[in-house]
Amino acid sequence: MVLKHFLPNEHVKTIFDIKPERLKQLGVKGIITDLDNTLVEWDRPSATPKLIEWFDEMRKSNILVTIVSNNNEKRVKAFSDPLDIPFIFQARKPMGMAFRRAIAQMGIKREEAVVVGDQLLTDVLGGNRSGFHTILVVPVASTDGFFTKFNRLVERRILNWFRKKGKIQWED
Ligand SMILES: [Mg+2]
Repeated sequence: MVLKHFLPNEHVKTIFDIKPERLKQLGVKGIITDLDNTLVEWDRPSATPKLIEWFDEMRKSNILVTIVSNNNEKRVKAFSDPLDIPFIFQARKPMGMAFRRAIAQMGIKREEAVVVGDQLLTDVLGGNRSGFHTILVVPVASTDGFFTKFNRLVERRILNWFRKKGKIQWED
């Protein structure tokens, strides 16, 4: 495994920093986004009003969105259905199958999609290895589900290494 696979193409503070105008400039037609701690806190069952607005903004700009989550069907469906947003649960990121399924469903090419998420070990690694443009967001909550806790320790070390090498400038 190559460490550069953990380096996202971009880094933003929150999902709301991802704007349709910018995506259009990049030729992006679709967003593949993680759910837990990317769109909302991992333990928040449904979207916030601000997030609903964000989805509407994307819809108006003809930017497609698919939620791709490693979480179970119950969680992902209950969150996505009220928003009328397509989703893939138990995605098994960092494996790339779910990303490929998402672009096939959206009818777009890999170069026309971005992969967004809060974790280096699943979202960024998976997206990079499958050749997607990746955007890392700061986790919405400072707490994590049980399995994510371990990933965070590893992530911390990778981020520190990148920081030392001057590959990333942001602080968190
Ligand atoms: Mg996440």
